[in-house]
Amino acid sequence: MSIFYIILIVILLLGLVMTFVRGRKISLELSDMVSSNKRTIRELNIINELTAALLSSLEMESVIELLLDRAKELLRATRSAVILIEPGGRVREFHTSLGPAPDCKIKLTGTLLKVFEDMTPLRATNVTETDDFKRFPDQHPDIRSILAVPIILRSKVIGELIVTDKLQGDSFTPADEDLLLTMAFHSAFAIEKVLLHTEVLKMATTDGLTGLHNHRSFQERLENEIERVRRYDHSFSLMILDIDRFKDFNDAYGHQAGDIALRSIAGVMNDNIRGADMAARYGGEEFAIILSETPLDGAIQTAERIRGQIEKLAIQHDGQTRRVTISIGIAEFPSDGLSREELIESADKALYYSKRSGRNKVSTFS
Ligand code: GH3
Ligand code: MG
Ligand code: MG
Repeated sequence: MSIFYIILIVILLLGLVMTFVRGRKISLELSDMVSSNKRTIRELNIINELTAALLSSLEMESVIELLLDRAKELLRATRSAVILIEPGGRVREFHTSLGPAPDCKIKLTGTLLKVFEDMTPLRATNVTETDDFKRFPDQHPDIRSILAVPIILRSKVIGELIVTDKLQGDSFTPADEDLLLTMAFHSAFAIEKVLLHTEVLKMATTDGLTGLHNHRSFQERLENEIERVRRYDHSFSLMILDIDRFKDFNDAYGHQAGDIALRSIAGVMNDNIRGADMAARYGGEEFAIILSETPLDGAIQTAERIRGQIEKLAIQHDGQTRRVTISIGIAEFPSDGLSREELIESADKALYYSKRSGRNKVSTFS
């Protein structure tokens, strides 16, 4: 065999080896691309599903729970947190995936405050011993790495989305930052929707002048209370209150003084009921109070306290002190009425009795 053939065979063999090596490289690159595409598809799916779920939530609690869950899952993080702030800068909500936050009144300082102020993400590793993170409460696990992004709505920061410590000890990457920013972007609209919904709901159930519940809200609650109490075989009381000779008060001092009186009286009522009770403006100068789980004798005590405090109430108007009194009628469920209408009628009759017997009085239907 001549030297020419040997060289030719060597060249052919080299060519074959190179083709094999290149092929293997391409196949590795392809497999990398496939797994990166799979990851992107998984992330997009989670973001799609999250966006749909966020937009169908009407309660802040469920929006926050979703964000905490998905941020952890998507960023493969050990923990997550959501902070929402009010326009004045006060913290409105602070929740972490560790469970109930120790104190909602946290004050934002250091690098976490900078995320709000500068509207820029924070991505840092080995933060355990830095000033901002070593001050965490003892029971809080040490934080090694952190990624925090601002939640921005119409050019204003309304909150912050945070993940800490990537699983398997890696640090957060620029791609992670983009991902969390996408989540924050979608969550901003959901948060705005929940806030608007809460405000509309409040407006629809609140009386504008006194801030008490309105007539409709009162009727709904009374119906629910009757249903609930009937099931458990308990009792509750209904109070109807009417200002005495309020027409004369308005005529003497003017409508504005009348409005101040209505607001002051509402304040006294609110100060004398418990969280489970409800005070409402029933109509013009009439109020109603539902005293949950309260039999008649307890209701009489509360009514007497309210009546006495209103009698002593100094209503300030035009540099003068004005006074009013109030008459109250009480009915108890189920003894004084089995339906909403019957119960209101009984309380009304008791109120009429208070008026007839001289006003500034508390009467019961029985
Ligand atoms: P009585 O002791 O019998 O209850 O006498 P009254 O004058 O309070 O009774 P009446 O129901 O005849 O008058 C209610 C008055 O309440 C009429 C109105 O001037 C006043 N009023 C009702 N709603 C408002 C309100 O929103 N603002 C003000 N300032 N006054 C109101
Ligand atoms: Mg009246
Ligand atoms: Mg009146």
